[in-house]
Amino acid sequence: MLEVSGLTTAYGEIQALRDADLRVGSGEVIGLIGPNGAGKTTLLNTIAGLLAPRSGTVTLEGDDVTGRPPEDLLRAGLALVPEHRRIFTDLTVEENLRVGGVTVPAGERGALLDEMAELFPVLRAKWTTAAGYLSGGEAQQLAIGRALMARPRLLMMDEPSLGLAPILVDVVFELVETLRAQGRTLLVVEQNATRMLEVADRAYVLRSGEVVAEGTGAELRADERLFDMFVGN
Ligand code: ATP
Repeated sequence: MLEVSGLTTAYGEIQALRDADLRVGSGEVIGLIGPNGAGKTTLLNTIAGLLAPRSGTVTLEGDDVTGRPPEDLLRAGLALVPEHRRIFTDLTVEENLRVGGVTVPAGERGALLDEMAELFPVLRAKWTTAAGYLSGGEAQQLAIGRALMARPRLLMMDEPSLGLAPILVDVVFELVETLRAQGRTLLVVEQNATRMLEVADRAYVLRSGEVVAEGTGAELRADERLFDMFVGN
């Protein structure tokens, strides 16, 4: 489904991502873990077309989509739930979801809205509320729902559990399980490596801009180089 090869991205002099390789198969749930500043957000944003890579390629279903603008990539099936959610606070829950559905044919949006109302009961209860009044957990669910409205082939999420109370972190991971059961393909950046490895088929570990390991939860836990990632986590 997605193939990233030799991707390098820099902010001026700072090389935030170096020669990264990553592969996501259809129906897989893939984690992207690693310490602060490792380049996880940079990798997702480069895949999503928000940052231009210095070198390397991004291939989606066999098509080279490197450097294409984000709206093209969204139409091609790549949706991103960005860090800090970035929902429209002045719009209602329903309006935010409708914005997410602009790339799908108008006749299909109603069914998608019904699907979101079923997937997110807390949003259904606040359908006509301005999104600025939502709690952090509700806003995160709305951000995910908005991305799902584009009917993505690959859904990427950047730190969906960041800043949430423990019980809401559980809600986010349960949602990942639900999306996996629906057969969706996910690429999820998470600081919570332990929780992510419980739900992911495989994960990639980034450190200082480089992919330093890749494997299943069991494989990564057995990798002594990564010991510190799981201490106290
Ligand atoms: P975090 O979990 O803290 O978000 P991350 O793994 O997502 O970390 P990135 O946000 O991709 O890491 O950052 C990778 C590196 O690039 C860091 O050294 C960071 O300081 C730097 N960086 C990120 N954004 C910018 C920017 N807009 N301008 C300059 N440097 C940046």
